[in-house]
Amino acid sequence: MKNIPEIFGSLVFNESVMEERLPPETYEIVKKTLTVGKRMSLEVANIVASVMKDWAIENGATHYTHWFQPMTGITAEKHDSFISPAEGGKVIMEFSGKTLVRGESDASSFPSGGLRATFEARGYTAWDPTSYAFIKDGTLCIPTAFCSYGGEALDQKTPLLRSMEALSKQAVRILRLFGSDDVTNVKATVGAEQEYFLVSKEIYEKRKDLIYTGRTLFGTKPPKGQELDDHYSGSLKPAVSAYMADLDDTLWRLGVLSKTKHNEAAPAQHELAPIFTTANLAVDQNQITMEMMKKVADSHGMVCLLHEKPFAGVNGSGKHNNWSLTTNTGANLLEPGDTPHENAQFLLMLVAFIKAVDDYQEMLRISVADAGNDHRLGAAEAPPAVMSIFLGDDLTEILTAIEEDRPYDARETVQMKIGVHALPKFPKDNTDRNRTSPLAFTGNKFEFRMAGSSQSIATANAVMNTAFAEELRQFADILESAPDFNEALHNLIKDTIKNHKRIIFNGNGYDDKWITEAEKRGLANLKTTPDALERMLDRKNIELFQRHGVFSETEMKARREIELENYTKIIHIEALTMIDMARHDILPAASSYAARLCRNAKEKSAFASCMAEKQLITRISALTDSFYEKILRLEGAAKFIESFDDPYSNAAFCRDKVIGAMEELRADGDALEELCSADCWPYPSYGDMLFSIK
Ligand code: ADP
Ligand code: MG
Repeated sequence: MKNIPEIFGSLVFNESVMEERLPPETYEIVKKTLTVGKRMSLEVANIVASVMKDWAIENGATHYTHWFQPMTGITAEKHDSFISPAEGGKVIMEFSGKTLVRGESDASSFPSGGLRATFEARGYTAWDPTSYAFIKDGTLCIPTAFCSYGGEALDQKTPLLRSMEALSKQAVRILRLFGSDDVTNVKATVGAEQEYFLVSKEIYEKRKDLIYTGRTLFGTKPPKGQELDDHYSGSLKPAVSAYMADLDDTLWRLGVLSKTKHNEAAPAQHELAPIFTTANLAVDQNQITMEMMKKVADSHGMVCLLHEKPFAGVNGSGKHNNWSLTTNTGANLLEPGDTPHENAQFLLMLVAFIKAVDDYQEMLRISVADAGNDHRLGAAEAPPAVMSIFLGDDLTEILTAIEEDRPYDARETVQMKIGVHALPKFPKDNTDRNRTSPLAFTGNKFEFRMAGSSQSIATANAVMNTAFAEELRQFADILESAPDFNEALHNLIKDTIKNHKRIIFNGNGYDDKWITEAEKRGLANLKTTPDALERMLDRKNIELFQRHGVFSETEMKARREIELENYTKIIHIEALTMIDMARHDILPAASSYAARLCRNAKEKSAFASCMAEKQLITRISALTDSFYEKILRLEGAAKFIESFDDPYSNAAFCRDKVIGAMEELRADGDALEELCSADCWPYPSYGDMLFSIK
């Protein structure tokens, strides 16, 4: 039997390892760094580094790396061994405090937007001691932030850490007003449910589109998809079960709190949910989870697809980002509580969140915008690209009663006075009642469902934290100077509901009627990545991030440029892959099949009418001609990709001219697949892929 508590975190340099191995005075200083974010002296860093190195070597490590999250969306590492030359042609194993806290990295090899031109190409990585070091593949990985020499953030992590500080500061101000003097720190907590597909490696390797782009660019739907709803939480196939067990084992050793695993809606689709933790740790752990999902799959003869839409017409994959706030005294600020006092504080947090999402709906949409996720949001799939909040009917009714100064319950005669009366009881868990909402309140947390399965959740959380911090700042300004706190609080909550209730929607987000209704309410509907990024530099967004020190204007411009370039590159690669598949494999296959039919018909013609062959020959030939024309059209468009001066025009060209040409080519290609014999088709079918794991 495996002893899970023993293997859990065995490859992590966590607090208990530190307590056990560091000299007590050093451990005390490190603990301060972890809880109040105090900086560490080089002297202390030297001691930590040396202890960390010994621990890593005992656990099989030979190398170390600063592990960081550049704007590529994945993690980066450069391994250095611990060896250092010693006398007599020997080596010793060395690791200094200086190397632990800071590393040099050539920033020019990573996306930096405008920053590359304006600033020095060199960048550096700085240790984030609040995220534990761990051992992966014999290498000690040190979680770090990645900045340019000018201090501009070149990664996903730095803005997240900055946003957590901003949020803590404003939340503590509010809690002071409610008399919580013992709270010194508030942390955003995150639990990210991760969806993914598994296909057999053998089949994957036969599909150029999966290899180059992570999704299928051609392929007709199989006879059986998810219609029967027989996959969701169905029993696990043995191979999948073995994979999941191995994945859990790997993640547990790395200190990832992997908790729940089940089948998702589509065949071959699955999900893993961890227990929530502090936001920056959760982001790191989600990156590790995605990496391990791929790696473990490989050793099981499978490939893990993290793309948002690997298969057209089949459920896409997202990542549900569960978000809440915890004080250093252990209270969840989105927990309604039982007393009037707790309820008042909860309501204030709730309306602050509602206002944050309404005020910064575009920025939240932007935080999850990329080419892959456009196939979910903005396509005919839930959640839609329109931001809204699901509160459930009961909580919405409570807010309406407050707004309208009337009792919540018809049997009551007095209206609820915030801070004096307790909230009526309302059912707390609405999770399963609405799966189409982009953002749902689920009892004591918000579940943000717009994130794409392959994305880093760092930016989404940085935006959520900062927008929320801003509303708390505004609220604190009002309440701190109010002569009558309860009165001011009541009015603030009431006014906020009135002004921002348009963002609340409890209906079906999948329904076209909602999109029309949302437009009437004045909500943004940013269907594509270029549409979304066009709004990124709106004054209100720049002001928000500048005010809270999360992004400078320069950093925002750089990020926008990176995202636009990234979008364009992805579409470009997809277009070229389609052309390759179409010209080199599909067209020859269809043509040979038609020729084979011709030969067959000729042989048979003395004895039979050959009606079927003749009709098929005509239809396949007509489609092949049309298919060829569509190849030429896509080639014509593809030539102009990346030919404009500015990144926005390049992205807009892809959106307006290239994607349509790709869709047309695919339609003909898929129609050909339906007509041609299976043995002549150059690629495994959707059925082969979706049912490839036994
Ligand atoms: P469901 O979404 O089905 O209601 P759970 O309640 O188990 O499932 O929660 C789903 C995810 O939300 C899990 O990853 C869980 O760790 C996370 N979660 C629960 N509480 C919090 C919280 N306070 N802050 C952030 N995430 C949380
Ligand atoms: Mg959920």
